[in-house]
Amino acid sequence: MDIEEFRRRGKEAVDIIADYYQSVDNHPPVASVNPGYLQKLIPREMPQTPDSYDDIIADMQSKISPGITHWQSGNFFAWFPGCSSYPSIIGEMFSSMYSVIGFNWLCSPAATELEVAVMDWLGKLLGLDNRFLSIDEHGRKNRGGGIIQGSASEALLLAMIAARERKIQEICSQDNISYHEAISKQYLFVAYVSDQTHSCAEKAANILGVQIRIIPSDNNFRLTKDALVAQISQDKRSYHYPFFVCGTFGTTNTTSIDDLPGLADVAEVEHMWLHIDAAYAGAALACPEFRELAQGIERAHSFDFNLNKWMLVNLDCSAMWIFDSKFLTKALSAGRNILYRDSLEKENPAVRNMHNWQIPFSRRFRALKIWFTLRVYGVVGIQTHIRNQVNMAQWLKTQLILDGRFEIVAPVVFGLVVFRLNEKAASAFGSIDLANSCLYQLIQQDGRVFIVSTMVNNRLALRAAIGSVFSTMENVKLLFDVITESATDAISSHIYN
Ligand SMILES: *Cc1c(COP(=O)(O)O)cnc(C)c1O
Repeated sequence: MDIEEFRRRGKEAVDIIADYYQSVDNHPPVASVNPGYLQKLIPREMPQTPDSYDDIIADMQSKISPGITHWQSGNFFAWFPGCSSYPSIIGEMFSSMYSVIGFNWLCSPAATELEVAVMDWLGKLLGLDNRFLSIDEHGRKNRGGGIIQGSASEALLLAMIAARERKIQEICSQDNISYHEAISKQYLFVAYVSDQTHSCAEKAANILGVQIRIIPSDNNFRLTKDALVAQISQDKRSYHYPFFVCGTFGTTNTTSIDDLPGLADVAEVEHMWLHIDAAYAGAALACPEFRELAQGIERAHSFDFNLNKWMLVNLDCSAMWIFDSKFLTKALSAGRNILYRDSLEKENPAVRNMHNWQIPFSRRFRALKIWFTLRVYGVVGIQTHIRNQVNMAQWLKTQLILDGRFEIVAPVVFGLVVFRLNEKAASAFGSIDLANSCLYQLIQQDGRVFIVSTMVNNRLALRAAIGSVFSTMENVKLLFDVITESATDAISSHIYN
């Protein structure tokens, strides 16, 4: 492909993309192919000589498209949204244009400095405590700062790494032992999460080789101070070291919010690191009316949310802030310093060696798509996006209650509605789970909308997450119709068969 062909094909590609979005709602939101379908359509070996570009595009339309689940469809309500937007796609294209690898400032000064700038923009957008910003109000370097990670899972792992480092240093000075002796106690380090915390916390503990306690949540799916304190005192009696606790702002199952002020109290007393995982719901903090729910976050040591869930920037884009970077950078900086300009970091608040804040060495220029998106939407545009979807979730909740056959399983706070057929509606089935599994199957068979199920309190529940940038009231009304029609079919088929 030479530059002239690239020019022509590139323009064509944007047209294909625009055509796709224009008609994305016309596709069933979920792919209806069988496992292994593509294996039969794709040769086992790559082409020996170049394929024709027309063939590649034709194959994409005929072979790849049928196997796509349309996350951007207005009728996609599964999991959490994977929200993208046009400015984000364009920002991603320009990031590919530069294709820089920004591990330190010199690699591409704009990549580092724009990231520092947009992370401060974002921190202010969410109303985060000033400690989390890179540059304070006098233009001086703060101890903390924000950085874009690839995922909430990586952010949690990094928070745990920083927490471990902090605890090791503490043991060194308290017990007056060497760093290596302190590290050797790591098998006694304990991280605390709840049974509603995302599974990435367990993964992080497995990677680090520390212990993890999965504490039962309360009736409102929250990790409470009392439960945490009880578990910690048990562990301390057996000479363990509590070092990390994760509080979730908007759990994956039900968007519940842990007792964050309570967890912050315990973290302070026990010298533990408090990480807040707000992967999905963090975006809502752009609207001040949600900030009351987030009390305690200002006392956390790190905080993370995914723009690629609910804030209009496509994957991958997870925004992490840390109150003081020294533990993380100490843990991650390798001894050999081959990066001669590293000393610049000390001199200027906008200069930072990103490779010491993340797991990979190289990094993508992701700040560009954030910058495009935040500028095209503005604070007001982002708030409107969030509020519209929260309102649609409230509408759906109200309609389901008015219908009379459903119960709402968890408070609807953000864009997620968790519901099920209630006892009465399910009475003919003998089991409420059976009734809801039948309802769920009928909704999937119908295929006009896509939702997934989950287990809440060991009972089947259905989750409808509103959040696609293309979801309008029309789509949510369709969702409601499909749910209620399927409920009618489920109940009548059971009564008459
Ligand atoms: C989605 C989600 C995660 C996982 O996010 P990744 O970016 O895919 O790692 C973690 N925590 C919560 C609360 C989530 O909702």
